[in-house]
Amino acid sequence: MIDHPSKHDLVTAYERCCPRAAYESMIDRTPPSLALRRIFVEGNVVDALARDSIFSDGVTVTTRDVGRAAAETSALMADDSVVRINQATFVTPGGESTRLDSIVRSGEKWSHEEVKSGTDAKDKYVYDALVSTDRAKRAGLNVDEVRLVTVNRNWRLGDSPEALFQYTDVTDRIQDPRMVGLLSRTYAALQNGKVPTASLVSGCWKCEYFSSCFGEVEYPITLLKRLGDVRILALSQQGVVDIRNIPADFDLTNGQRENINSALNGQEHVNQDLLEELLGGLEEPVRHLDFEWSGFAVPLHTDVAPWGAVTTQYSIHLEVQDGLEHTEYLSESEGDDRRELVEKMIQDVGEEGSIVVYSIAAERSRIREMARWFPDLSNELSAIERRLFDLQPLVKRCLIYPQFFGKSSLKLVSLIVPGFGYDGLDIDNGEDAMGAMNLMTRGEIDAGDVPVLRERLLRYCERDTEATARILQALRDMVAGD
Ligand code: SF4
Repeated sequence: MIDHPSKHDLVTAYERCCPRAAYESMIDRTPPSLALRRIFVEGNVVDALARDSIFSDGVTVTTRDVGRAAAETSALMADDSVVRINQATFVTPGGESTRLDSIVRSGEKWSHEEVKSGTDAKDKYVYDALVSTDRAKRAGLNVDEVRLVTVNRNWRLGDSPEALFQYTDVTDRIQDPRMVGLLSRTYAALQNGKVPTASLVSGCWKCEYFSSCFGEVEYPITLLKRLGDVRILALSQQGVVDIRNIPADFDLTNGQRENINSALNGQEHVNQDLLEELLGGLEEPVRHLDFEWSGFAVPLHTDVAPWGAVTTQYSIHLEVQDGLEHTEYLSESEGDDRRELVEKMIQDVGEEGSIVVYSIAAERSRIREMARWFPDLSNELSAIERRLFDLQPLVKRCLIYPQFFGKSSLKLVSLIVPGFGYDGLDIDNGEDAMGAMNLMTRGEIDAGDVPVLRERLLRYCERDTEATARILQALRDMVAGD
């Protein structure tokens, strides 16, 4: 065995329902992305607040050395005057360690309270609690109840710290046979240094370890939209991981067959009539808008829920005679710039013409939040919302391209513009953009690196609106027959 899997490794396996994923996570040396660092940092903020409020009646084990922390925990448990121990640490006879957020004396037993930064007691958290409780039990802890402590979505800045937390008893849920079964299968698969077998499961569709498991596959099956568990199992049993190896008589929808044929034959199909009709809905002058936003487990802005979106940035490209004119805004990482952002955005989008966005739901939600924060600007914001023009449905309805496989993300669709792409960007996705803003706001980025990160954020958002502008032009050219 290369080492004991961490809780993170085991939860990674749970999320994919795949023991192999625990192994891949254990050997993964990729530094955490900005997006992942954000989750860790927000989790730490919530943990610290719990220790300072709801767990403040406890004694906290602070040493990071596992052996000494376990000895300290043991001494505290032997002291009847101690009713709560935070960061209680246990080591199993086999050498696996676990650190429980808090344990509370309950007669001869101890209740386990595990803090999570999310707002729901979701299954992933229950599994997480199962992993720690299971280890603590095997280390000798007599466990009574197990409770998840999650974040109350109704909490707002100014409320008491105690009100941020809510409890869910998961004593029964951690005994779910599917969870217990997966955990024991994962331990068994990792035993004695074994490398668990990789087999196609639905979790492969969003798994970064695909090439590690199945090698470099030119047309990985995951390019297709998820196929449903029955079909995935059938393909798995036949060892199919490359689209070209799907049997000709395999049960697929017409759309899936069309996408596969298009990909393998390199065929493009454009519904020009429909495209022309839909493009007719655009009104001049045409602008392209994209927002980026952040969200904090413990909100830093008034009238924002835990993890609620706070728009921090926009990019606008205006189509002009000889190209595009660009305007942009990026909030400072300290303070509250929402009002300034909204007022400047209202100016920058002008009063007429279409505002092109890609996948309207996000931009529309951001605008509605702004109207809620600043009711005096709601008329202007409603007018902006009415001008939004979503480019994504046009792409979905009118284009079949070999590279798409029925998908239509902005980055993927930008492939229709020769020479354009997302290369050369240090931040190239929304999750990392969100992570960058969080980390700057939480003071996790060295002051000297902040300007660099801000520039990266600006260039990423700019690329998104340039992308919609270039795609729109490509669609117009298709209609014109160029
Ligand atoms: S790609 Fe599939 S088999 Fe490999 S680790 Fe991920 S979920 Fe498991």
